[in-house]
Amino acid sequence: AAPLMAGKKGLVMGVANDRSIAWGIAQAVRSQGAELAFTYQGEALEKRVRPLAESVGSSLLMPCDVSDEASIDATFETLKQQWGKLDFLVHAIGFSDKEELRGRYADTSLQNFLTTMHISVYSFTSVARRAAALMTDGGSLLTLTYYGAERVMPHYNVMGVAKAALEASVRYLAVDLGRDNIRVNALSAGPMKTLAASGIGDFRYILKWNQYNSPLKRNVTLEDIGGAGLYLLSDLSGGVTGETHHVDSGYHVVGMKAVDAPDI
Ligand code: NAD
Repeated sequence: AAPLMAGKKGLVMGVANDRSIAWGIAQAVRSQGAELAFTYQGEALEKRVRPLAESVGSSLLMPCDVSDEASIDATFETLKQQWGKLDFLVHAIGFSDKEELRGRYADTSLQNFLTTMHISVYSFTSVARRAAALMTDGGSLLTLTYYGAERVMPHYNVMGVAKAALEASVRYLAVDLGRDNIRVNALSAGPMKTLAASGIGDFRYILKWNQYNSPLKRNVTLEDIGGAGLYLLSDLSGGVTGETHHVDSGYHVVGMKAVDAPDI
């Protein structure tokens, strides 16, 4: 049989280095024959992203700062000229001032609230609209979220509020774009040691907590996320849209651990 992603072209946004969630998904879809384009946030990251992109046979690499609508326009204009169409898109982008990813949510500033919502929520809607215009044969859009959207997690604060809005926007976009056979889903990843995560207070404790309390008794890997990303971006998930799919070793189903649980 032909590889799952043979003939499919996708844009991957959010690779910063080889620990990035976007990179895990890029490798998985590439291994099934996808053709990839990448964006990077700024010149400093280009040095890291270019060799990664080249290692998966991609020569289409574009700067894109999602806080700037003109920058997003330029990316999709280039994509339109180079490819003419698009089959899938990965949005693995989030940002908040790390000074507010500790302490109390109650102390969130207006400016950082707006910035966090802009970069972490609106940017997905903004790229979805432009991507959809190129998805003439249908398509699949995927964003990344976290359980802090559903339940209060220490220090996640304004980012949890933003992820809740992101998950709601996935549902609204799924309805808007469904008639064009464009699916929109979120992948809710368990905690992973990436550049973005290093900004979150007590992150090492959060990792340990998830490891000890999740059904699978381990943290998730880039391969775990890549496999689920491949499913959501390929035709295997053809009937799935508007979904938030947890890849978190099952952590989200646990209410309380049994008193006689063997570890810790
Ligand atoms: P990462 O640091 O590797 O990736 C974050 C990316 O966001 C970077 O590539 C960065 O350049 C990009 N970005 C930030 N501001 C931008 C802007 N203005 N324009 C363009 N790009 C911008 O970290 P990651 O953990 O791979 O994060 C990817 C996504 O996964 C984020 O949405 C994050 O919230 C989500 N997520 C992470 C975890 C975790 O524990 N690491 C868990 C669940 C969800």
